[in-house]
Amino acid sequence: MTTQMSGERSQLAALPLDDKVRLLTGADSWRIPGCDALGLRPMVTSDGPSGVRGTTLDESNPSSCLPCPSALGATWDPELVREVATALGAEARGKGVDILLAPTINLMRTPLAGRGFECFSEDPELTARIAVAYVTGVQSAGVAATVKHYVGNDSETERWTYDARIAEQVLRELYLVPFEAAVREGGAALVMAAYNVVNGSRMTEHATLLRAVLKGEWAFAGLVTSDWDATRSTVPTAVGGLDLAMPGPNTYWGPALADAVRAGQVPEEMVDDKLARLLGVARRVGALSGPATPGAAGNGADQPAPPDLVPAALLRRAVTGSLVLLHNDGAVLPLAAGGFHRVAVIGPNALHPVIQGGGSARVIPASVPAPVQALREAFGGEVTVTAAPGCRTWQGVPEPPRGSVTDPVTGEPGVRLEFATSGGEVFASEHRAATALAWWDGLPPGVGWGESGVIRLRAAFGAETGGPYLFGAAGVGQLTITVNGAVAAQGETKVPADPVETMTRPGEIRGQVTLPAGQDSAVTVEFRPAAACQGPVALRLGVTPWADEQTLMAEAVAAAAAADVAVVVVGSAEASESEGYDRDTLALPGRQDELVRRVAGACPRTVVVVNAGMPVLMPWAGQVGAVIYAWLPGQAIGEALADVLLGRAEPGGRLPVTLPAAEADCPVLHAQPRDGRLDYTEGLLIGYRGYDAAGIAPMFPFGHGLGYTTWDYESISGPAGTLAPGTDAQLRVRVRNAGTRQGREVVQAYVTGAPGHGRRPVRVLGAFGGATAAPGEAAVVTLRVPARIFAVFDEGAGQWAWPPGEFTVQVGRSSRDLRLSVAVRSG
Ligand code: BGC
Repeated sequence: MTTQMSGERSQLAALPLDDKVRLLTGADSWRIPGCDALGLRPMVTSDGPSGVRGTTLDESNPSSCLPCPSALGATWDPELVREVATALGAEARGKGVDILLAPTINLMRTPLAGRGFECFSEDPELTARIAVAYVTGVQSAGVAATVKHYVGNDSETERWTYDARIAEQVLRELYLVPFEAAVREGGAALVMAAYNVVNGSRMTEHATLLRAVLKGEWAFAGLVTSDWDATRSTVPTAVGGLDLAMPGPNTYWGPALADAVRAGQVPEEMVDDKLARLLGVARRVGALSGPATPGAAGNGADQPAPPDLVPAALLRRAVTGSLVLLHNDGAVLPLAAGGFHRVAVIGPNALHPVIQGGGSARVIPASVPAPVQALREAFGGEVTVTAAPGCRTWQGVPEPPRGSVTDPVTGEPGVRLEFATSGGEVFASEHRAATALAWWDGLPPGVGWGESGVIRLRAAFGAETGGPYLFGAAGVGQLTITVNGAVAAQGETKVPADPVETMTRPGEIRGQVTLPAGQDSAVTVEFRPAAACQGPVALRLGVTPWADEQTLMAEAVAAAAAADVAVVVVGSAEASESEGYDRDTLALPGRQDELVRRVAGACPRTVVVVNAGMPVLMPWAGQVGAVIYAWLPGQAIGEALADVLLGRAEPGGRLPVTLPAAEADCPVLHAQPRDGRLDYTEGLLIGYRGYDAAGIAPMFPFGHGLGYTTWDYESISGPAGTLAPGTDAQLRVRVRNAGTRQGREVVQAYVTGAPGHGRRPVRVLGAFGGATAAPGEAAVVTLRVPARIFAVFDEGAGQWAWPPGEFTVQVGRSSRDLRLSVAVRSG
């Protein structure tokens, strides 16, 4: 303990109890209170993980929109992830953020998981490697990382209450693996306790998992924060190991916690321990006065300079590194310059890519991608690019294109936002550049849930072409849309089941109006938030020209028939993948399957780009020239896609999740609790482990991804003799670039013959590493398979055991393309 720390301890001891407990509850939605007596300034938290939002979701405070975590998992490149996370940490620091609420390191138990896009992989080892890189990167910038959601928060249905029944061995060998690595190797400063229950105890009260395992066995000296509003009791949470109740100020802690201490239900030393942990985080981020910590975060109150965003070139490299080339029939890709003159860029996501998932991970992107424009620029003037959506997939009326709405007061692009009393008297008004708005805090008094005040949005909308237009207003409460003085729609929307849905998929009212071309129409939306609701208040305006589906499809097919190459971008719709709910199907929304088939029928050189954060079904995959999986790629998708299509960069990704041929093949599909219980009956057999055990061939296996060159696997060597229990196995693998261009290979090692009884996986990923080589050149990759891969968790003894045995370590290009093997004896 340093002198500074022992000084802190005595200052702490001198603090009155009421002041101590005040520090353990949020000051508001995002801030942790400060304390002058301790020299502690307030600390600011902010979501992650696909960027850092800052405390407002406001277009004047935009953020770098990173490739989503499943895309980062697809890089299989911890170095690249560390580089991205370091830049993200710097951006957070510049935004006055001390604590990033990221990364999410739950596992992709089911491909339908609404938040699967926020996870790195279905595999614990890949997740652990990427998580450690992310955490160390963020923290190297002087910002604390929060690994979440500890643990068993692998799906969204009934996420606030379900009881995940998970065998201890399964927890240890699967779901806890990334958390243990992030804490022990990555030194994560915070762990977020999840909403759900595990084996009968709420995670915020889970003395075994919080106190015995996390703080005891793993010696975690950091801070356990609750997920937002997950603190549902006073004494059980306080003694269970929770350290911080967020957000505040009204929680089950505060004065109630002080009373519980006075009543002898919670020892005061426990409160002191929580505070010491809080001060430990504060010291790390420079929130304690004293010598300035280099790179410490600001306090968020007065931000001097605009933050440095993640460099564009790095974002672009991260996206190309995550794109997975699944199939490339007859080497359609890369497109050879001069070999084509007309390109049809087709699909709803070609015009409106879904760059991020929904929920707390959402940021306002610093730039809005236009893949069609990026492709036009990349192909150059010789190539004609046409664009057609082909079909409609949106669930909420899309926002009007930028520039089509103007503020009627200032004439600037955007809208006029007014706050009015129930009598209509406007008491505040401002210009906003965005048409989707959200507030956690900061609404004027008298406006918000249960208040009588009204939020009014006014805009002049200029229709490019004359004809029918659909208007939508989304928000939870009473809504009215007026167009040119006439009411176009009016109604009241329902209060959603999960508070996050006020933002991600609030109810919407819609009305159709025929507009003349080239004239401004006056649009007003009046919104009175619902009487009883929780979560952020959000309002969105939608306006879109109305065309029937037959016309959309026919235009796309005609464009494809007239082109040398068709690039079809299909995928999730804006609200398909989100926090707060799971998907019900793996099928692409709308008529996208039909669109791909018809375009492929019309244009032999069809390349399909799938824009989805998690698996979707691709029944047409064998009928098209090439398929690229692009995830929810963030703001750099346009340039990165152009780089890969033209071969300026190799698609560097490998699948971090199995892509199924059919829903019925998935080891776990619907995570639907029964009577509040969610039984993890599949045990260890999630993802590829389940396919292997059932002998089912997926459409594309875990680890698969092609790149633009080919590789020979030449030799492997493993450890000589028998590995002592607890010893890692080191392997050396020699690969050779057998193609005609430079490339990067991801060498993957899978261990078969895992010890133990019952339903053990056929093989598990033990290690992986990247090799870069020029054509004809060889590269040697050294891989370290962690000792735990050769162990079982013995529930009876409550510890890891290394039963003697012989394993086969197979290396190759995916979990189903294994080229070399070596025997390893352990125990
Ligand atoms: C999410 C967390 C998030 C928090 C704050 C919760 O609903 O589960 O991941 O960090 O909100 O936005």
